[in-house]
Amino acid sequence: MASEYVFTPPPMVSIPVVGEAARYPVHRIYCVGRNYEEHAKEMGFTGREPPFFFLKPADAAVVVNEGETGTIAYPSLTRNLHHEIELVVAIGKAGTNIKAADALQYIYGYAVGLDMTRRDLQNDMKKQGRPWCIGKAFEQSAPIGPIVPAAKAGDVANAEISLQVNGIDRQRSTVSKLIWNIAETIEHLSAAWELQPGDLIFTGTPEGVAAVVAGDTLVGKVAGLPTLSVKVA
Ligand code: MN
Repeated sequence: MASEYVFTPPPMVSIPVVGEAARYPVHRIYCVGRNYEEHAKEMGFTGREPPFFFLKPADAAVVVNEGETGTIAYPSLTRNLHHEIELVVAIGKAGTNIKAADALQYIYGYAVGLDMTRRDLQNDMKKQGRPWCIGKAFEQSAPIGPIVPAAKAGDVANAEISLQVNGIDRQRSTVSKLIWNIAETIEHLSAAWELQPGDLIFTGTPEGVAAVVAGDTLVGKVAGLPTLSVKVA
């Protein structure tokens, strides 16, 4: 039988769902920049600016099963690979111009993610006023753990969020410190793009971002969600 495609298309990126046999297929990965005040400060900014967004390709996801340790390669070109622990929101239905008051009904569930960043390259691009893609949207830049359906995820809006590297605390805060909360983020994001089921939103990282090197093991947590463990090869 003739194929419809001139080459074999890549497999759909998908994430396991806690308590479900079916997996969550990934459409897009949106990320919010500077969404915790203390992180904005450590990056040289202050105050509540309008939220801004960037994207990673869906196949930047490194899907790590509960209880396992995933592996990422140390990426090319950088000498300053940073960790950013983040709460990830998984969208469950399509919508545009969603109001914050209605936003929670668009959420399928939540997961723990890492927005891995080639900080040196991102900073070069910032200085030159160029896009962040090379700093943010590279292969294996979005490790993510299993998705917990919203009804079973507990009070994620007030959950503790933390990252340890080799057992030492690097980041520790609470999701309640988001500058733009989950509902407000969905309102802003859906004004600019039509959200689709399968869209992931990395909601931003608290303070404490720093470099990792080959051999490091990262353990990220958001209370109520499966722990995300990743080793840098
Ligand atoms: Mn981030």
